[in-house]
Amino acid sequence: MKIIMLGAPGAGKGTQAEILSKKLGIPAISTGNILRAAVKDGTPVGLKAKSYMDAGQLVPDDVIIGILAEALAGPACANGFILDGVPRTIPQAQAMEDQGIEIDAALDLNVPDQTIVERMSGRRVCPACGATYHMVSAPPKKDGVCDKCGAELIVRADDAPATVLDRLRVYHEQTEPLIAFYKERGKLKTVENTTSIEEYTAAILKALGI
Ligand code: AMP
Repeated sequence: MKIIMLGAPGAGKGTQAEILSKKLGIPAISTGNILRAAVKDGTPVGLKAKSYMDAGQLVPDDVIIGILAEALAGPACANGFILDGVPRTIPQAQAMEDQGIEIDAALDLNVPDQTIVERMSGRRVCPACGATYHMVSAPPKKDGVCDKCGAELIVRADDAPATVLDRLRVYHEQTEPLIAFYKERGKLKTVENTTSIEEYTAAILKALGI
C-alpha cells in the first residue's frame, strides 16, 4: 500500500503513520524527521532548511522533492510506504505524479484548529531518535524521558504557540489545496477527529478498507 497522510500539523499524522507502519509492515517516511536529522547533523540540506523550519514556514519544494526521491528509491519502500507530512504543496504532489509515483490513498486527518493548538502545547519529542509523545494522550513511561532510547524529551522550537498559529496558516494556504487535488483523482479518504489514538487508528483502517 502507498499511503499519503494529509492533515494539519498536530493532526496526528506522525503518531498514526508509526502505528500503520507497524501494522502494515511498510516504512513511514517523514520529511520533517529527515529534515530535523539533517539540521542536527549540519548537512547542506539541514543548513538550508533550518531557518524555514524554525519560523514555521515550508522548506522550498526543490529540497523536499530531492529528499523524497532519495527516500523512495531505497529497497525498504519496494512494497509500499506511508508518507507523513509530504507532499505538502501542489508542486510537490505534481512532482510525485511526474515521477510516476502512484498512490492508493490520501488520508485527510481532519482536526479543528482549536483542538490542534491545545494538542501541540502538550507535544514532546525525542531529539535523539525522533519518537513523539504527548503529555496527556501518549506520555512516556518515565516523565520527560524517551521510552525508546532514554534521551531527555524536548518541546520542538516550532511547537511554540506563536509558531503553531503560523504553521496552521501555512497549512490552510499551501497544503489544504491537496485535499481537492486528491479528491479529483478519486484517492481522498477523510477521517474525522476522534478522542483517542486507538479510535483514530480504527477509523483510518476502516477508511482504508482494511
Ligand atoms: P513536520 O514534522 O512534518 O511538522 O515538519 C516540520 C517542518 O519541516 C515543517 O514545519 C516544515 O518547515 C518542514 N517540512 C517538513 N515536511 C515538509 C514538506 N513536505 N514541505 C515543506 N516543508 C516541510
